[in-house]
Amino acid sequence: MAVATNLGFPRIGAGRELKQALEAYWDGKISADALLATAAALRRRHWELQRAAGIDVVPVGDFSLYDHVLDTACMVGAVPARYGWAPSAEAGAAIPPAPGGDAAGAGRATPAAGQRAEAGPGAAAAAAAGEVPLDVYFAMARGTPGRGVPALEMTKWFDTNYHYIVPELEPGQAFRLASRKVVEGFREARSLGFEARPVLLGPVSFLLLAKLRTPAGAGAAGRAPEASRGEAGGLGGGAAGSSGGEGVAGPRLALLDGLLPVYGQVLRELAAAGATWVQLDEPFLALDLDEPARAAYRRAYATLAQAAPGLRLFLATYFEGLRDNLELALSLPVQALHLDLVRDPGQLEQVLAAGVPPTLHLSLGVVDGRNVWRADLEAALALLERARDALGAGRLFVAPSCSLLHVPIDLDLETDLDPEIKGWLAFAKQKLEEVAVLTRALNQGRQAVAGALEASRAAVEARRRSPRRTRPEVQERLARLNPDEARRPSRAPQRRSLQRERLGLPPLPTTTIGSFPQTPEVRRLRARWRHGEIDTATYEEGIRAEIRRVIRLQEELGLDVLVHGEAERNDMVEYFAEQLEGFAFTRHGWVQSYGSRCVKPPILYGDVARPGPMTVRWITYAQSLTDRPVKGMLTGPVTILQWSFVRDDQPREVTCRQIALAIRDEVQDLEAAGIRVIQIDEPAFREAMPLRQADRPAYLAWATECFRLVTGGVREETQIHTHMCYSEFNDILDAIAALDADVILIEASRSGMELLDAFVQHRYPSDIGPGVYDIHSPRVPPVDEIKALLRKAAAVLDPGQLWVNPDCGLKTRRYEEVEPALRHMVQAARELREEW
Ligand code: GLN
Ligand code: ZN
Repeated sequence: MAVATNLGFPRIGAGRELKQALEAYWDGKISADALLATAAALRRRHWELQRAAGIDVVPVGDFSLYDHVLDTACMVGAVPARYGWAPSAEAGAAIPPAPGGDAAGAGRATPAAGQRAEAGPGAAAAAAAGEVPLDVYFAMARGTPGRGVPALEMTKWFDTNYHYIVPELEPGQAFRLASRKVVEGFREARSLGFEARPVLLGPVSFLLLAKLRTPAGAGAAGRAPEASRGEAGGLGGGAAGSSGGEGVAGPRLALLDGLLPVYGQVLRELAAAGATWVQLDEPFLALDLDEPARAAYRRAYATLAQAAPGLRLFLATYFEGLRDNLELALSLPVQALHLDLVRDPGQLEQVLAAGVPPTLHLSLGVVDGRNVWRADLEAALALLERARDALGAGRLFVAPSCSLLHVPIDLDLETDLDPEIKGWLAFAKQKLEEVAVLTRALNQGRQAVAGALEASRAAVEARRRSPRRTRPEVQERLARLNPDEARRPSRAPQRRSLQRERLGLPPLPTTTIGSFPQTPEVRRLRARWRHGEIDTATYEEGIRAEIRRVIRLQEELGLDVLVHGEAERNDMVEYFAEQLEGFAFTRHGWVQSYGSRCVKPPILYGDVARPGPMTVRWITYAQSLTDRPVKGMLTGPVTILQWSFVRDDQPREVTCRQIALAIRDEVQDLEAAGIRVIQIDEPAFREAMPLRQADRPAYLAWATECFRLVTGGVREETQIHTHMCYSEFNDILDAIAALDADVILIEASRSGMELLDAFVQHRYPSDIGPGVYDIHSPRVPPVDEIKALLRKAAAVLDPGQLWVNPDCGLKTRRYEEVEPALRHMVQAARELREEW
């Protein structure tokens, strides 16, 4: 019999209960016990939900109080010294198993009751049985603002918008079992009567996700406490960029032999607790690997296969197909292999052709764990039946393509959603019901689920035929597109002097990235308007007042290119999506971004059109208040695409072109209204890049084309800015240059301008504003520090190319910090203009 299973479930709770409990705990409003009780209640509710949906084997250990990679770092005792956790005297000795059956188990990193200390010797003293205490765990995740201990770095989990905590290892790092979260979670599920499969991040992927601290860089790796969404990390380690394929993984993989005994011990304890299968997530097995990484896989699994006789290993790959790692994957001594058949349906035939060893089960990920569309059960079943006919149902698991962490929990909560569009969607709960139906079809035949198959067929057909999905005028416009529309007549360097003259800019022009602090008053203004508590006229006057204040402040500070401050925007994608056609919005469709932070991505379901201007009146109002140029601020097409749930019925690049045309029209309207500088933000440009090297050139070609489609129609004297943050630029500099922006403003201060190296090596021709002020920290940089950064930049670039600006938008900061910081920034630029 085929088995219905799941790889992972969202943790945050349908009502974001985990978020509330975490934030209350961090604020000192609830006890650790209360937090752990909320977590235990969520786990239980989620297991019940999965079982009720028809899932035979539920995952355990996928739950996390903050992040599963951080959990793994704690499991293996990889806690950097600055968190003050000293492995206790019995380190290295066998540690007696923690008392089992504890319902609060998975939060095991337990502090002594009432212990609210930040990381430090006090917290360490509270550690029971040598395990990592809760407050050390949170210090690693968030830093300890009071003591100035920075958090670990954070970066994107592969090509998702989920951020994981980057484990920080040192050369020769010692590992020891220091958290039994997964063992206790398993006992907890068992005691509640669930058939459960523990989930671990596999050892090779763990090492490839980590960063190795070089002695010189000690301490520099962390991020400032309390960074906010998408604004951290990206400097080191990192899934998206450095797989084993770039030859940089060697020193990390050298730690494998020290790591495997800890995994072995966990497997033995799980087996002793009654586990029959253990899931090991190895997403890197589906990415580009070099020979040392492949060897690491062979060594790791040869060892783990011996660790707990009788325990069966379920190896999970996802986010890509196995491709050139197929033989490697099939050769590993595991008992089940999970394939992501949504990302790469063709790999099933490849695997069958290569020969599935008789002892191997396949887990087939046929329901999309990354997107919100209802599955085409017919198509999924065709794949499953093919596998059943080849291998027999008894060797199959049916599953979502990956953990459901990346989708909202329950579509049933969306009572306000347009019923037609709702009929096209499935969230985590509905996806598990699809998995169950498919499993039943395999085991009992199609007739057993005839009703569900018919409903799926009808839904697929209804979506295909719906006029809501298509706009002929958008499609015609796309069909008529001519390449010249994505090109300006000259290249950026030729436009430089024309623009500087027109704008009256001095050397080293100063500007900001767009948003000014979103004060509680600004947030309240928007919220009251949304809830109908104030009328539109009152709201708009409130926004205009905010714009006046921001413009006056910038004039007073002496900035050269001003912004309107973005007070009317809640989120840089949602703001535009709400004004475009083709998008739908949920009320409860939250997805974890990191820790307690969630995002509610718009759902892009149809052809995109712009019914009217989206930003023009705010920008022109701001421009009417000053003689200095005010920038029009727009979010770019790639970022809107990347931070939405996107339709799966046409290629992403087609959808992206449609968005680009809508933004292009906005650019044209801004220019026609007299706006002389327009900025297109593309913070997700790097992140949207495919995981496999071989797929990147095609992506970069259409992504840059979309950007140029946005800007291609403007006059020579109109200056185009773009902004990207938390990116590594090394491998995409050709594409960045091909954007042909007049000015690129990038995050650079935290890397001490190192990010500029790529621009220097490529002789980047346009203007560059390397951020000189780290907006992730409340710290106000002194004038001399900013000057030093600018001198560093000027040493490698032509000073005539340089702009002076912060790293990113200021919306998460307070005016008390922003005013003096910008004052110092302008002062630094002035002094250097004198000196140079
Ligand atoms: N213009 C946006 C802002 O200033 C850019 C945000 C971002 O890059 N994430 O907030
Ligand atoms: Zn930014």
